[in-house]
Amino acid sequence: MIKSLLVANRGEIACRIFRSARRLGVRTIAVYSDADAHARHVRAADEAVRLGPAPARDSYLDMVRILAAARASGAEAIHPGYGFLSENAQFAQACADAGLVFVGPPARAIAAMGSKIVAKTRMRAAGVPVLPGYAGEAQDLASLEREARSAGLPLIIKPAAGGGGKGMHIVRSEAELAAALAAARRLAESAFGDGALLIERYLPAPRHVEVQVFADSHGHYVHLGDRDCSTQRRHQKLIEEAPAPDLPGELRARLRAAAVVVAREIGYVSAGTVEFLYDGREFYFMEMNTRLQVEHTVTEAVTGLDLVEWQLRIAAGEALPLTQEEVRLSGHAIEARVCAEDPAHGFLPSAGRLALLEWPQGEGVRVDAGFESGDTVPDSYDSLLGKVIAWAPDREQAAARLATALEHTYCAGVRSNEHWLARILRSAVFREVRHDIALLDKGAARFAAPAQLPDEVLVLAALATHLAGRPAGAVSPWQVGDGFTPNLPARIGYRFAFHGHLHAVELECPGGAPRVARLANGATLEVAEATLEGESVAARLAARRFKARCHRDAEHLVLWVGAGEYELRLDDPRTQEFAASAASGGLTTPLPGVVVAVPVSVGQQVAAGDALMVIEAMKMEHTIAAPYAGTVISIHFARGERVPEGRALLELKRAEG
Ligand code: ADP
Repeated sequence: MIKSLLVANRGEIACRIFRSARRLGVRTIAVYSDADAHARHVRAADEAVRLGPAPARDSYLDMVRILAAARASGAEAIHPGYGFLSENAQFAQACADAGLVFVGPPARAIAAMGSKIVAKTRMRAAGVPVLPGYAGEAQDLASLEREARSAGLPLIIKPAAGGGGKGMHIVRSEAELAAALAAARRLAESAFGDGALLIERYLPAPRHVEVQVFADSHGHYVHLGDRDCSTQRRHQKLIEEAPAPDLPGELRARLRAAAVVVAREIGYVSAGTVEFLYDGREFYFMEMNTRLQVEHTVTEAVTGLDLVEWQLRIAAGEALPLTQEEVRLSGHAIEARVCAEDPAHGFLPSAGRLALLEWPQGEGVRVDAGFESGDTVPDSYDSLLGKVIAWAPDREQAAARLATALEHTYCAGVRSNEHWLARILRSAVFREVRHDIALLDKGAARFAAPAQLPDEVLVLAALATHLAGRPAGAVSPWQVGDGFTPNLPARIGYRFAFHGHLHAVELECPGGAPRVARLANGATLEVAEATLEGESVAARLAARRFKARCHRDAEHLVLWVGAGEYELRLDDPRTQEFAASAASGGLTTPLPGVVVAVPVSVGQQVAAGDALMVIEAMKMEHTIAAPYAGTVISIHFARGERVPEGRALLELKRAEG
């Protein structure tokens, strides 16, 4: 077995590879860019070597620096993960030339599949079904246009050297053709340094199915079953499953056999994935990915195998651990990619500090995480935070289990898509396998979060804010001495912004504890047993018990209630009514804080409701309003001074009559 392994990657996949390596007693070496100096994958390795600045071309894509890091750390092998240099034949060759074991296929196998044109031509010759189109040598725009016209519309133009869904153009009418070819050529040249294009018939709503294959250096080949990755957004996979659902048995057998033919055809070694499109009648070869895929986890879940262990054994020269007959598949597994992007705002990538990231746990649930609470998501790389995978005896249970797990993933500080993914998993279209690769591009809106704020959630938000303001065991101002007796019910108002609308709620707290919540919409809820413990707020509201997970960060509040996630912002509290009850003209603050404004002076006459003092407490401003009309007799605190809880702030003489 290999003794030391450098992973030329970051995030969840680096952590994932280290886990298997550690179990096998292999010394682990991380590499990192400046943006990742404190990243989870760096913490997870035995050693870590800095590569360079944040941009990938100066770090994770820089072969020279990676090879130098391998030399400096005495690494025996390099695992490239996925993305970055994983499908770069030159890098695989450079590793071999430097005497390092490249954990992946030989450079010639990567090169064979590196061009979609070459791959497609070879596969057609080997009898694997391919989509009609053009994958020829004549690459001038006039020839391409002629070929495209004879292939018929609609069609898709792909950069031959492309990857990751980049640079593809769909052409639906003849009028668009010439411009699309010219644009595709320019993009292919600039993004991949190779302008060669492939044209093929465009299938409007196919499913994406693929087969995991494995080969060793002794000429053995197996497949580990199929997967479906049809839930995609802009050709990026989001939900993947194994096995592919609803495939006729005969077709599934042909699909798996075709994938093994593809691997054999190029003398493949290591883990690979053969990708196909399936239009409901036939499957067509699309490409082979010559690396470990993001979604390898669902295959692991249904086979019980560790694919990274297999890769390491094969790289060390061992034979495949199992024959085809010994490979057993059981149950169903689904993976969801949790990404730092905002489904409510066009899936804009989100970066920054993860104030909270708590991954789910539970029977049949696996998490491959690249980040945890307190980590920073850099904006230099892809947005994957981690993957949640659920296994169950059948598809329906696996989907329910995964949706529940995603609903129990708590992320704050950075926008993320886990609740959106959960809604897809719970949708009829997904459950009934009526989805295809175009589903999310045609109608992502149907999976949008509900924009209504249930009354109970609003009250829980107010309670969480209210209770956080007074630490457990603190003396309530309504119980403090100074001859103070409550003669008015204390009312505290909160306003929250949610989906661009303001929602007001007022808590009545006679004797200190919230008893009634009045909503601006007229609803009144009786409140009992309101508690805030850690990040959990609970209460009985109108005789029903409610509980929410909550996370507060300055004026931001996230509540997770059942399957819902609600992000609220406390509205400017200066506008809030903060009615403190008064006795013998003394006015008190219910919270310790700092005086930020005293808009009155001694001797001034005020009307009931006039602002007397503004106190900042718990990052909120509270206005102390006059409970009755009168004259200000004295003021005990000036602007900038601290006020202890329950202390009289000023005296107000009630107006006669
Ligand atoms: P890349 O190497 O850039 O990932 P692929 O050839 O694998 O490119 O295609 C990526 C995605 O584009 C597929 O998963 C599928 O969603 C879509 N796609 C590719 N070819 C076609 C086609 N002929 N018809 C419809 N969609 C296609």
